[in-house]
Amino acid sequence: MTEVSVAKEDVAATGDLVVLQSVNKHFGALHVLQDIDLTVARGEVVVVIGPSGSGKSTLCRTINRLETIDSGSITIDGKPLPHEGKELARLRADVGMVFQSFNLFAHKTVLENVTLGQIKVRKKDKKAAEERARALLDRVGVGAQAEKYPAQLSGGQQQRVAIARALAMEPKVMLFDEPTSALDPEMINEVLEVMQQLARDGMTMIVVTHEMGFARSAANRVVFMADGRIVEQATPDQFFSNPRSDRAKDFLSKIL
Ligand code: ADP
Ligand code: MG
Repeated sequence: MTEVSVAKEDVAATGDLVVLQSVNKHFGALHVLQDIDLTVARGEVVVVIGPSGSGKSTLCRTINRLETIDSGSITIDGKPLPHEGKELARLRADVGMVFQSFNLFAHKTVLENVTLGQIKVRKKDKKAAEERARALLDRVGVGAQAEKYPAQLSGGQQQRVAIARALAMEPKVMLFDEPTSALDPEMINEVLEVMQQLARDGMTMIVVTHEMGFARSAANRVVFMADGRIVEQATPDQFFSNPRSDRAKDFLSKIL
């Protein structure tokens, strides 16, 4: 893989990057996020697991303000989330997100997918944006696909382009919401490997996944959610060998 800087933050910089305090969110009568307190330090990799419907996706979506919250606060790098306009576009660049469905622009080439935001939001000139895009595409192993359209790529390749597109914005933190769930089994590892490398390079990451192997090897911390609450948090070792709550024990007994 080509060397390219992805972590914008100074390695020496420390402190909390993502802080959620007493966050509550409802969808009508459903209390989908209940008093969520979550702090993610710079360079930390947090894996969020839990049953379907527990609020994991909603949690991710509140962090880059795809969803609003009803009460509580969220700060990124000490700053509250902006509400609209250019500030919001910059927040979405600072908080890269990779979804289960790859969400690439279908009518743009791979290269255009990775340059657009750099030019529009980060105000880079086209040449610099393309250079960075090509380096990142090489880095995630799809450099040869740059002139193709998303539909011409495999799911694993598309998801790696989606990761490159988010990285191109020099995000402070990357959110992954079940990035491998829609992939054929043989493509899962190529995406997880890119994520592993990113974690090793010091990127701050919040990853919702059912890939327990990834959680064990890449996570600094596992956050277990159920029914809109964070039920427990622990190191992967502690969590997988000795879950404390009945909910976590029950969940693990079903998936392991
Ligand atoms: P998870 O990602 O853990 O499976 P979600 O955050 O997607 O959970 O969903 C949590 C709950 O909120 C589910 O019951 C889901 O049906 C509900 N929900 C999610 N998005 C919406 C929405 N836009 N409107 C109404 N209910 C929603
Ligand atoms: Mg989800």
